[in-house]
Amino acid sequence: MTTTGHQTDLLGRYRDSVLGVFGTPPLVLSHGEGCYVWDTDGRRYLDLVGGIAVNALGHGHPALVSALSKQAAEAIHISNLFTSVPQIELAERLLGVAGAPEGSRVFLANSGAEAMEAAVKLTRRTGRTRIVAAEGAFHGRTTGALALTSKAAYREPFEPLLPGVSHVPYGDVDALRAAVTEQTAAVVLEPVQGEAGVLDPGPEYLVAAREITRAAGALLVLDEIQTGVGRTGEWFAFQAAGIVPDAITVAKGLGGGVPIGALVTFGERVSSMLSAGQHGTTFGGNPLAAAGALAVLDTIESERLLEHARLAGEHLAARVAGLEHPMLHPVRGRGLLRAIPLAAPVSAELATAARDAGFIVNPVEPQAIRLAPPLVVTTGQLDTFVDALPTLLDSLEATP
Ligand SMILES: *Cc1c(COP(=O)(O)O)cnc(C)c1O
Repeated sequence: MTTTGHQTDLLGRYRDSVLGVFGTPPLVLSHGEGCYVWDTDGRRYLDLVGGIAVNALGHGHPALVSALSKQAAEAIHISNLFTSVPQIELAERLLGVAGAPEGSRVFLANSGAEAMEAAVKLTRRTGRTRIVAAEGAFHGRTTGALALTSKAAYREPFEPLLPGVSHVPYGDVDALRAAVTEQTAAVVLEPVQGEAGVLDPGPEYLVAAREITRAAGALLVLDEIQTGVGRTGEWFAFQAAGIVPDAITVAKGLGGGVPIGALVTFGERVSSMLSAGQHGTTFGGNPLAAAGALAVLDTIESERLLEHARLAGEHLAARVAGLEHPMLHPVRGRGLLRAIPLAAPVSAELATAARDAGFIVNPVEPQAIRLAPPLVVTTGQLDTFVDALPTLLDSLEATP
């Protein structure tokens, strides 16, 4: 067997060796640089998905590469029997960028779902067991996180799941108010629903959720796994609402591609709810991932990527609107978490045509494509895709 080869050979080997939960991917990628990736046949693509909002600094960013190389040579793993300078610095830095008050704390995990599991255990320590989540919510695939996720196709094959979870229509303040009682341990929400198609209820929804949870003595847990770390043009999307949640979960963009997740608990009371021995992880907080995340946070700050994400996202929305194409509806989302809604359910065909033309986009739902490019994407790079869109759309209409 060879270690390189053409796409078809490699994809055949993939099918014969990798568990089929992802279906068969369309491409075998070999490497990336900035906002571009290359497949094993040497074709180049503009990566407008960024590994699903993960590659915040694009591919091969020198700050991330050098932080990881340096840390790999020093210590990759030490376990949580010990701690390391990167782990401590990352926890401090996360509390800082989250604007977390005195007494706040960080638990470091390895993925989004794991951060959600920590959050679910936190909610149990209220002495209550009911959780209110939203219809359309995506919180991950582990059984605890899956109980909060709403999509029937993801949940039903694995039921019964964690009991006590109800789902209310997303963005509907009255429905939330009606669902939250003195038995509610927590309300768990995404500030913008990513997997549901980049649905943004606006910051007022979080303001209302904060008021409702506070009145009922329930926790407000915000899943910032997709929206966090600069993606929406703020460090965290909740900051646009001017509220203080009880906890947030973070992952995707945090490591710039290195697997990492985090639960941030806000304030002394919530942070003391999980005590020594009540939760743990072998890999979480390892110095390699922590050093990577620190480099990501430092670079977002030094390259002023929050402001850039805001401006580039607005630029994209304005350019798409300017096309005045009958197949395109106004762009949804904030910052560089965006969906381009389509007038017909052709997102899969559009994504395929785009890929053939050298652009990676995500058909997040049948009538919308999602863009979550690296935060370092230039407006010029976004323009190349916008310029290609009319031709791509017209090519779909031409094929019966
Ligand atoms: C991706 C995602 C998760 C799950 O993260 P994993 O790292 O895949 O476990 C949870 N919540 C949201 C909002 C996500 O986008």
